[in-house]
Amino acid sequence: MVARRTREPLRTCVGCRRVRAKSELVRIVRGAGGRARVDREGMASGRGAYVCPEQPCLDRARGRLAGALRASNVDFTELEDELLVV
Ligand SMILES: [Zn+2]
Repeated sequence: MVARRTREPLRTCVGCRRVRAKSELVRIVRGAGGRARVDREGMASGRGAYVCPEQPCLDRARGRLAGALRASNVDFTELEDELLVV
């Protein structure tokens, strides 16, 4: 891992597996009923995963997210709509 000067926490994108600053990634959290949703504040409790807000990463995360979150139901269309809005 590359040494950084900042103390910002680092997270790994489930899509591209790059380690980036937490603020550069979007957190997806498994909410009630095993439903995944975007956690804009990064504060929601529950099992979370991080992904770059970029289409290629979302595409790659697609097959991994359910496993990473241990979620039974991941609505990717909805997640993408929310993630890619800037
Ligand atoms: Zn990524």
